[in-house]
Amino acid sequence: MSSNGHQRLARAEKNEQAYKDHNERRAALDEEGGVPEDEPVPFACECDDSSCARALELPLAEYERVSAPADQFVVVPGHEDPEVEVVVETHGSYLVVSKPDLKRPGRSR
Ligand SMILES: [Zn+2]
Repeated sequence: MSSNGHQRLARAEKNEQAYKDHNERRAALDEEGGVPEDEPVPFACECDDSSCARALELPLAEYERVSAPADQFVVVPGHEDPEVEVVVETHGSYLVVSKPDLKRPGRSR
């Protein structure tokens, strides 16, 4: 990968991680609030566009399943970045993407 690609990945990763943290807090709150696990709730798109404010809906249980691996994120269809992401699941209102680079061992995070 070019150094430009590395920078792009680092930036994308930071932004997506922020959204993912936000969504995970939200999922925990919804769960505590008694939202049924199969009821769709809004989450923020976890794509690498820092100006993206799109929301997507999926059930809590689904979000917890797809976001469990550290390399997986949920994004609005069309917001995937083929340079650094692989679409692993396609659903009506959202996609699940994986960043293969996050799986590589030896990273400092
Ligand atoms: Zn997005």
